[in-house]
Amino acid sequence: MQYNEVLDNLKIYEAGKPIELVVREYGVDAKDIIKLASNENPRGCSPLVIEAVKNEASKMNLYPDDSMYELKEGLADKFDISSKNVIIGAGSDQIISFALHAKANQNNAILMARTTFAMYEIYGRQTGTKILKTPSHTHNLEELLQMYKENKDIRVIFLCLPNNPLGECLDTKDVYSFLEQIDKETLVVVDGAYQEYASYKDEAKKIDPKELIEKFDNVLYLGTFSKAYGLGGMRCGYGIGNEEMITALHKLRSPFNITTLSLKAAIVALKDQEFVQKSVAENFSQMKRYETFTAENGFDFIESYTNFITLKYDASQSSSSIAQKLLKKGIIVRDLGAYGMNSLRITIGTPEQNDRFFDIYKTI
Ligand SMILES: *Cc1c(COP(=O)(O)O)cnc(C)c1O
Repeated sequence: MQYNEVLDNLKIYEAGKPIELVVREYGVDAKDIIKLASNENPRGCSPLVIEAVKNEASKMNLYPDDSMYELKEGLADKFDISSKNVIIGAGSDQIISFALHAKANQNNAILMARTTFAMYEIYGRQTGTKILKTPSHTHNLEELLQMYKENKDIRVIFLCLPNNPLGECLDTKDVYSFLEQIDKETLVVVDGAYQEYASYKDEAKKIDPKELIEKFDNVLYLGTFSKAYGLGGMRCGYGIGNEEMITALHKLRSPFNITTLSLKAAIVALKDQEFVQKSVAENFSQMKRYETFTAENGFDFIESYTNFITLKYDASQSSSSIAQKLLKKGIIVRDLGAYGMNSLRITIGTPEQNDRFFDIYKTI
């Protein structure tokens, strides 16, 4: 069968390998496998969420409240904005797709850093738009600005702050100066999937969504419950923008796009900020161990503002073969070979998982 031409250039997104697959392919016992590949919260989620979801389970027969009133009010409260500034998605992933389908098409282009979140490109390709990337792997505002000025067709720009899969983060003041030079017809997506981490580590990286959307009508801020809140499996994220933009994006949302249980989980998760703060604090104390470990073993890392760290190898070692060796011992990490980088991205685990990582790494 012939499918739409845009599908010809589309690769299927390769998600982090699930534990089940490692059991099947390598015969490693499920209990010996640790997954440090998808930036999930290794501490799980707030116990209040588990309790609430259990209680909500009997309502599975009911569609969720499609207005998502309580969750939007919770987010509006947290960020001191109006619920009219909020859209909810099945992961912030889905909102990336809304943003692209709202602005990008085969007659225009989108712009991003060379090595950033893969879904920007994948959803971009679905629209048939042209994908432009900077020469540098990490976010370089001068390159982004120059390319923007040279290409009149750019309709969407992505800024991943901090960036996945490399972990670096621009300073907010530099982001503001950049945004001031962007035309109001160009949508800028500021992806804050790891903002809970970045703002904890360094105040200069903190983005206040309220201030952001008040200053810039053309900016959409994204947040998610998948990382610091520990709800990756629940698929819930949010977008924050001015009312007119959010109304436009709602036209692309199908009804009931998150589940009754996800909605409940997110509402309750928002109320347990202490859980988030503890997770984030432990993340950075554990990350120090990786920094020390890499220094001691003579290789390099990128300073990270997230819940993962990217290790860089020189030509004497191959990240792909290291990832493969780790996998055979039951440790799943993310190889960045496909991005043209001889690097591994490792999600920071619990203290026990990290102990095991270091023990096994020494043996390979
Ligand atoms: C994880 C992630 C997201 C969104 O994840 P969802 O689970 O779809 O909410 C968005 N952007 C980046 C950069 C991420 O790493």
